[in-house]
Amino acid sequence: VVRTRFAPSPTGFLHLGSLRTALFNYLWAKKCNGKFIVRLEDTDQKRIVHGSEQSIYDLLQTFGLQWDEGPVSGGPFGPYQQSKRLPIYLEYISQLLASGKAYKYYDECSAASPETGKKPYVVRFCSQEGATSFVDTVYGKITIKSNTPKVLSDDFVILKSDGYPTYHFANVVDDHLMGITHVIRGEEWIPSTPKHIQLYKAFQWQPPTYSHIPLLTNPDGSKLSKRQNDAHVTSLLERGYEPMAILNFLALMGWSSRQTSDIIHLPQLMEIFSIDRLTKGSCIVALEKLQFLNKHYLRERINDPVQLDQITVEMQKVLREKYTNSLARISDSDYVRQCLLLLQNRIRTLPEFIDLSAYFFEDPFQNTIHHKLPSSTNVPMVLSRLLHGLQTCSWKSSSLHELLKDIAITFNLPLGKLQSLIRQILCGSIPGANLADTIRILGRDATVYRIDAYKK
Ligand code: GLU
Repeated sequence: VVRTRFAPSPTGFLHLGSLRTALFNYLWAKKCNGKFIVRLEDTDQKRIVHGSEQSIYDLLQTFGLQWDEGPVSGGPFGPYQQSKRLPIYLEYISQLLASGKAYKYYDECSAASPETGKKPYVVRFCSQEGATSFVDTVYGKITIKSNTPKVLSDDFVILKSDGYPTYHFANVVDDHLMGITHVIRGEEWIPSTPKHIQLYKAFQWQPPTYSHIPLLTNPDGSKLSKRQNDAHVTSLLERGYEPMAILNFLALMGWSSRQTSDIIHLPQLMEIFSIDRLTKGSCIVALEKLQFLNKHYLRERINDPVQLDQITVEMQKVLREKYTNSLARISDSDYVRQCLLLLQNRIRTLPEFIDLSAYFFEDPFQNTIHHKLPSSTNVPMVLSRLLHGLQTCSWKSSSLHELLKDIAITFNLPLGKLQSLIRQILCGSIPGANLADTIRILGRDATVYRIDAYKK
C-alpha cells in the first residue's frame, strides 16, 4: 500500500513550494488509495520558530489536505513529531555503533560539561568511499561521487552533541519505520539523498521511491524566496486568493496533466495525478495565472447559494470596517449579494470586490465626473427626463434599460454616450457593470439622490 508523507520543519511560515510538496504527496496517496502522513521534523531545536508548527497544521486544513496519520490525530506509527521519538533514534544509533558502522567523535576543542564532567561528542556515520547512485522517477539515475580518500566531513554526523539526531538520520529512520513507500520532495534534497541511501544500506532497509521536483522560481529564474510575499502562503490567502485556486495553480507546476483545461478541481486531481508525469522543467510562479484561476474559482463560489451566503457575511465584515456611514446598506444581505452577483465577472479576488463596489456603499465624488456628451446636448433636460422616468418606471433591469433607450432616442444621443454619463454620475470614475442592473440594485432613492446632487 502506498504511503507518502509531508515532513515540514517548524522553522518559519509555510512556503508555497512546501505546500506544493504536501499537495503532490497527498494526491499520490489519494490516487493510490494509500495513506498520507504528516511528520514534524523538529530535531533542529535552534531553528524552531514559535507558532509555526500550529500554523502549518492549520494551513494544511485550510487547503483540505487532511492527513491520515500525523500529529494531533496520531496513528499506528506515532508519535509523529521527531522530538518525541528520541529513544527510537538512540536505539538505532546504538545498532550502528555496535556494528562499527558509526563512531563517537569528540571535538578536540570543546570543553567538558561542568555538570557531568564528560566531554561532549557527536556520532558520525562511516560513509562509503566512491560513488552512490539512486534512481529518481523524475531525474532518472543520479550518481554522486564522494571524496577518495574520504575526509572527516564525509562521515556525516547522525547524532548531535545536544542528543538530537540530525535531519538525515531521523528522516531515514522514520521513513523506514513509518512504512513510507514514496518520497516526493524538492530538488534541493538531491545532494542529501546519497547520505540517505547509504543509511538504508547500512541498516539493510529498502529505500523508498524518490521523486525530486524542481524549485519554484520567480519569472526572472531566481529562487522564489520567503522574503517575497508571493512565496508566503498566508500572504496569498490574505490577498484574497482562494485555497482551491492556489492548489490548482500548484498542481500545474512540475506536473503535466493530460487535460486540455487548466482548471482541475481537487477531487479530479486525486483521480488523475500520477508521479510518472512529474516534470523537471522550470516552474515559474506567474501571478497572472493564479489570478486567472482565482477568478474562475471565485465565480464558482459566488454561483453556489451556500458559498454565496458565506462570502456575503465575510464581505459585510470588511465593508463595515471600511464604511461607517452605510451600515444600513451593508447589513442588507440581499443588497450585498446582488452586488457580488453583478460584479462577479469583473473581479479576480474578493479584495477587488471591495474596491470595485465602492459606489454601492458611498456616493461618488461629484468632481470626478467628466461627461462626454455632444456639446449641443442639454444635460439638465436629459437628467430631468431621466428623473421623471425613474419615478414611474417599474423597477426591473429590462424596464430600466428601455427607459435609457427611450431617452437616448428622444435626445438623439448614442446610447453608449448616455450610459457613460449616467454611469459616471452614479458610480464615479470607476468603470461600472451593466448600467440597468446597477440602477436596479442601487435602488430608486439612491439613484435619484445622486442625479439630483449632480444637477445642483
Ligand atoms: N524536513 C525537511 C524539510 O523541511 C524534509 C525534507 C524531506 O522531505 O526529506 O523540507
